Amino acid sequence: MLSNSTIELDRAHLVHSVASWRGHEKAGVRLLSSAKGATVTDAEGRELLDGFAGLWCVNAGYGQEHIIEAATRQLRELPYATGYFGLGSEPAAQLAARLADHAPGDLNHVYFTLGGSDAVDSTVRFARYYWHSKDQPQRDQFISVMNGYHGSSTVGAGLTALPAFHAGFGVPLDWQHKISSHYAYRNPVGSDPAAIIAASVAELRAKIEAIGPERVAAFYVEPIQGSGGVLVPPAGWVAALHAVCKEHGILFVADEVITGFGRTGPMFACTEEGIVPDMMTTAKGLTSGYVPMGAVFLSQHVYDTIADGAGAAAVGHGQTYSAHPVSAAVGLAVLDLYEGGLLENGVKMGARLLAGLESLSDHPLVGEVRGRGMLAAVELVTDKANKTPLPAAAAPSSRIFDRAWQNGLVIRAFAQGVLGYAPPLCCTEAEIDQIVARTRLTLDQTLADPDVRAAM
Ligand code: PMP
Repeated sequence: MLSNSTIELDRAHLVHSVASWRGHEKAGVRLLSSAKGATVTDAEGRELLDGFAGLWCVNAGYGQEHIIEAATRQLRELPYATGYFGLGSEPAAQLAARLADHAPGDLNHVYFTLGGSDAVDSTVRFARYYWHSKDQPQRDQFISVMNGYHGSSTVGAGLTALPAFHAGFGVPLDWQHKISSHYAYRNPVGSDPAAIIAASVAELRAKIEAIGPERVAAFYVEPIQGSGGVLVPPAGWVAALHAVCKEHGILFVADEVITGFGRTGPMFACTEEGIVPDMMTTAKGLTSGYVPMGAVFLSQHVYDTIADGAGAAAVGHGQTYSAHPVSAAVGLAVLDLYEGGLLENGVKMGARLLAGLESLSDHPLVGEVRGRGMLAAVELVTDKANKTPLPAAAAPSSRIFDRAWQNGLVIRAFAQGVLGYAPPLCCTEAEIDQIVARTRLTLDQTLADPDVRAAM
C-alpha cells in the first residue's frame, strides 16, 4: 500500500532524469527499498543483482558499515563548512591529499564538485582561465569525441556527442568540435587497432589544422567511452591522441567519471596508457554513490599558471557544496576500502565477468563482447555477418531491461541493443556467474521476442 501511494506521488510530482516524462507517468516508478553488497531489493521484496552499480557508481557495494560510520560521524561533528573566505574542513583537506597521492604524475591539486557534470564544466572554465593566464585568450575552441558523454549541463551536453542530449537544446555550441569515435565494431576503417589509431590521429590533426592550432584550448577523452555503449579504444589510442595534443600545447582532459576508482582495474584508467593528463575529471566511484561529489584534478603547471596569472586576485569559480565535509568523509572511507583489497577484487572479478560474457558469444544475438575490468558491454545484433542492430520495434532499452529485471538482474540496456555492465567491485565469483547466467536467460527470451524474430 505504501509503495502504491508512493508510486502515485512519484507520478504526480517527480521529474526523472533522461526519461520520457509521459512514458514514465504511464509506466510508474520501480521503487528500490534497500540494498546490501551487490544486491538491491525492490518495494515488492524482489532481490536483484545490481550489474550496473546504480549508475556505474556504487563501486564499493551497498551497506558498507565503514562508509556509513564515517558519514554519520561527520554529520554529527561538522555537517557543513564552506570553502569560501579561506574556510575549510579536515576531511576535505585529507581527501585532496590522498587523491593527489593516488593520481598519476603531477595531478597534485583537487577541486571538488557535486558530480561529474559540474566537474566537466569546471575544466572548461579552468582551461579558459589557463589560456587567459598565458595571454592566449583566443584559445577558446574545444574538441571531443563522437559517442562521448561529458554531462548534462549546457556546456557538457555540447561536448557530449550523443544525439538525445543535443536535439532541441541548442548544442553543441559553436566552439565545440568533434572527431570520430574509435568504436572498433562499427568503424569504417575496420577493426585493426593500428588503422583505427592512425585514422583518429589523422582526424585530430586535420581538425586542429582546420580550427587553427593557436585557437584550440583543450581536447576531451573518456579512457573508455561509457554512455556511448562501453566503447573500448585499442591499446595506445589514448596515448597517441595525447601526443598530438602535446605537439600543439593543447590541454588534454581525461574524463574519468566512470573509469576512475578501479572501474577498469587500476585506480585511474589513464595510467594504463602511461599518460598524465593536464586535467582529470572524476565523480561516481569517488564516493561510491553514497553521497554526491566529483573532483577535478589539476596538474602542477595548470594550477601554477592560473594561480600566478588570471587567478592571482581570485578565481571566480565556486559552489556552495564544493569540498562538502560529509562527502569528503565518505570519500576517505571509500578510499580505505579501495586500498584495503577492493581494487584487487575488482580486477579478479572483472576478468571473470569478461570471460563469462565472452562465453555468450555463441548466442545467435551476440555480435560483440567488449570491456575492461568491471566495465563491459554485450552488443546485440540480429545478423552477425552484417552486424544488423536490433530493430527499434523490439524496444531494446525497455523490453530487455524488463526481462533482465524479471530474471533478478539490473543491467543497462541501451536503445541500440547494447547491454552495459558495471557491477560493484565487491562482487563474489558466485554473483558474477549469476550475472552471466541471468544474461543468457534474458538473451534467450529476447530471441523469442516476435519483433526480434521478424528481423532475423
Ligand atoms: N562524464 C562522464 C564520462 C560520465 O559518464 C558522466 C555521467 N555518467 C558525467 C560526466 C556526468 O556526471 P554526473 O551525472 O554526475 O553529472
